[in-house]
Amino acid sequence: MSKKWLGRLLELVALDTTNPPGKNYRQAMALLKPWCREAGLKTELVEIPEKIAKDRVNLLAHRRHPGKPRLLVYSHIDVVPADEDWQPFKPRVEKDKIFGRGVADMKGSLIAFLAAAEQVKDQKLPWDLTLMITTDEETNQKAQVEYLLDRKIDQVKGAVFLDIDSTFGYVSIGGLGHIAVKITVHGKAVHSGISHTGVNAIEKAVPILNALMKLKEKVEARFSQIPVNPELGIEKMQAKLNIDVIAGGKKVNIVPDRCQIEVDRRLIPEESVGQAQEEIRQALEPLKDQVDFDLEFVHSMAGYGQVSPAARKLAQIMKQVTGQGELYGVMGSGDLLAMAADYDWQFAGLGVIRDKESNAHGRLENVYLEDLDVVTKILKRFLLQA
Ligand SMILES: [Zn+2]
Repeated sequence: MSKKWLGRLLELVALDTTNPPGKNYRQAMALLKPWCREAGLKTELVEIPEKIAKDRVNLLAHRRHPGKPRLLVYSHIDVVPADEDWQPFKPRVEKDKIFGRGVADMKGSLIAFLAAAEQVKDQKLPWDLTLMITTDEETNQKAQVEYLLDRKIDQVKGAVFLDIDSTFGYVSIGGLGHIAVKITVHGKAVHSGISHTGVNAIEKAVPILNALMKLKEKVEARFSQIPVNPELGIEKMQAKLNIDVIAGGKKVNIVPDRCQIEVDRRLIPEESVGQAQEEIRQALEPLKDQVDFDLEFVHSMAGYGQVSPAARKLAQIMKQVTGQGELYGVMGSGDLLAMAADYDWQFAGLGVIRDKESNAHGRLENVYLEDLDVVTKILKRFLLQA
């Protein structure tokens, strides 16, 4: 990475954009605006309407060529909070790495993209390009991103969507869907000595837990066609069902009147939200006569996974540059992936976060200088070939 862009990365990291609460967003956009222009992009500041988010500004940067394949590049400028003891906002280069909050997630890859765009600014691009510089990714930005996509950016449907808030070493092509399930078992509280006159909600929850464990076995036998990073110990994306919360009971001598169970169900891209919900309903249905419970789907979103031509192209370029070019689904979920399914995108993710080393949300967050160079090189080539 050139001295100029490295200096800018350090400057951007030194600007504390911690979220929550969302510090210095305006200042960050003010820094980035001229840098985008220098990279050959036309900038457009977008004030997010109050009813969606208070005092939020996003930046779009375009190189439009209507009629050419649409390319949307996604980034965000907020970072997660950090302890002061490692001076997270005093970024520094030490040997082959840069340390500082946000260097990996994801100011590093944003600067890498701008450096790449600058290198091709005098060349014809085969793309109709828009870069999205967003806020609040680390808390909840769904409504803001939807506002951008639905009101401020055109030709969104079917676009190539390049997510540079992503990992280094492979191209991400999907992620899991997610259903958060809440089951509340009702009982009747009485003193333990006369428990025959009450209903023990925890004990009543046992057959529910057993039914869920049976369902878990069935669900987790399901694998996607989409491969995952073999370091995870599985070869393909796998459907998941976990009982992650159980809460109930107040005191050892009181029969509990309530027991709450929370289940985290992760869907492979081939599964539908509706079918997965129905499957849970049916697994618990036979217990309706013996247990008084409510079943609630608190949050649901679909998964996404596709080896698209654009992802394949990116992986090919990566292979030319680094010798490695795998395409993997990630075993996590995100709003962008759910949107990828809705907007019918060709989704591909590549960034500078090293899963094991970057410590993206932790102490001493870091990025390799070399990775910044490699990603700049890959992005440059990608910009030149549709
Ligand atoms: Zn991020």
